[in-house]
Amino acid sequence: MLNIVLFGAPGCGKGTQAAKLVEKYNLNHISTGAVIRSEISAQTELGKSMEAYISRGELAPDSLVIDIVTDYIDRHRDANGNIFDGFPRTVAQAKVLETIGGVDVALAIEVPDEAIVHRMAGRRTCPKCNATYHIVNNPPATEGVCDKCGESLGIRRDDAPEVVLQRLRVYHDQTEPVMHHYAAK
Ligand code: ADP
Ligand code: ZN
Repeated sequence: MLNIVLFGAPGCGKGTQAAKLVEKYNLNHISTGAVIRSEISAQTELGKSMEAYISRGELAPDSLVIDIVTDYIDRHRDANGNIFDGFPRTVAQAKVLETIGGVDVALAIEVPDEAIVHRMAGRRTCPKCNATYHIVNNPPATEGVCDKCGESLGIRRDDAPEVVLQRLRVYHDQTEPVMHHYAAK
């Protein structure tokens, strides 16, 4: 089993690049953010307990995120490996990864904060299949409609400018140290 972790600030393009790697190498794509959003839209107990954190741009509690990941791994033991998109984001989460096979490859996508803020302002997301678009840089064929599944596109609540700034702060404070740990290895 190959474990790949992907680092990068919110909106840097982690999800887009992960989808390409998944297709090329037959990997599981584990996006903790996408799982959390689907739990919230289904209004499960788990989703409800995480909603307030996500809408403020803060991290969901480690214990809940770790449960999501270990559960996912248990149910998907078939592929060539896993690509973790948005995990680990804290030192505690990185420790858990060591117990489920460790990390073979760590990739970082570096984008300046100013570019992130600009990109997020024009981001549109498909609530059904998670495809993302940008109104100028990567528009769908028909305005407001997902190319992949035909669903109406929306704006993620946590893509509001003030929440994006908070997500960037959290990334620099809590997740970059984890990335530096892998860089040093
Ligand atoms: P982005 O990388 O663009 O911020 P994600 O979809 O990866 O988007 O995450 C969205 C939100 O979900 C985060 O701001 C955070 O609140 C929560 N989240 C996602 N992954 C984790 C994680 N590993 N640990 C804690 N919270 C997470
Ligand atoms: Zn879609």
